[in-house]
Amino acid sequence: KQEGRNTYRLYRADMHAQDSQRLALETALRNTAETGDGLVVHYQPLFDRDSGQIRGAEALVRWQHPTLGMISPGDFIPLAESSGLILPLGEQLIDVIMGQLRAWHQAGLDPVPVAINLSPRQFWQSGLAEWVGQRLAHHDLPARLVGFELTESCLLDQSQAAAAILRGLQSLGCFTAIDDFGTGYSSLSYLQDLPFNELKVDRTFIRRLNDGTRSSRAILGAVTGLASELGLTVVAEGVETAEQLERLKPYQIDLIQGFLMGRPSPAATFADTWLAPRRM
Ligand code: C2E
Ligand code: CA
Ligand code: CA
Ligand code: CA
Repeated sequence: KQEGRNTYRLYRADMHAQDSQRLALETALRNTAETGDGLVVHYQPLFDRDSGQIRGAEALVRWQHPTLGMISPGDFIPLAESSGLILPLGEQLIDVIMGQLRAWHQAGLDPVPVAINLSPRQFWQSGLAEWVGQRLAHHDLPARLVGFELTESCLLDQSQAAAAILRGLQSLGCFTAIDDFGTGYSSLSYLQDLPFNELKVDRTFIRRLNDGTRSSRAILGAVTGLASELGLTVVAEGVETAEQLERLKPYQIDLIQGFLMGRPSPAATFADTWLAPRRM
């Protein structure tokens, strides 16, 4: 009995510790969401598979915490989503990325289109396209330099409403991409109904090619063939080895992204490595 009570109290104490840790993290995240301080964006290049030319970049957020150091998105995006902070945080992030594109332009560089990840709450926030249009005007950027990636979980059961939002973004001139394709509730029929410019095949499919099974080849062939037929730009993500790149050869893939070609890196490193001076 005594022991049970002690255990109970230990458990309670532990709960408090976890709660207050979470609260402290949330408070720090709220500060970042309000000020933008601590938001760090890394950029990973995407290349044309055939020519090897750079075609774009994906913006990947990190959080520089005042005492804990650099935190990866997998470790704070869920908190940002559950606390609702993803909305102000996402707005800060879009401004940071657009500001970066403008800064590259002003430095005489030729920026590449940058894809921004949107979480479901951001995607469904009303007036998204209007807000994006306003920020593009504020930063004096051509819309073709900005695109948005969303996962299938954003679209579930709401494809008509989702299509309207996607069309709103596209009519600004932004591109739209379906991310991690094949991991969720993917149904190939989505592809026909939703206005996407780009399809990113999830890296699990690329990895599975290593085992060389007939079914993994068949699935990849079906997805890339249909997407390509529908006029989508097909991206293979998570290409890590030269062997994987070789195995992708038979498939209709336009762009490649992965550690083999380039890791996500801070804006300055990315620009030094990949951005060319603008021809006047
Ligand atoms: P994602 O959108 O699928 O992003 C690609 C992830 O794969 C990135 O991880 C990237 O660093 C990693 N990656 C790239 N190439 C390779 C490769 O060759 N091999 C392997 N193993 N991994 C590779 P990261 O940066 O840790 O981001 C993780 C996830 O966090 C992203 O997955 C995305 O869902 C989310 N995320 C990142 N930035 C944002 C953001 O600004 N907003 C939102 N809402 N989510 C974000
Ligand atoms: Ca992504
Ligand atoms: Ca992805
Ligand atoms: Ca091609």
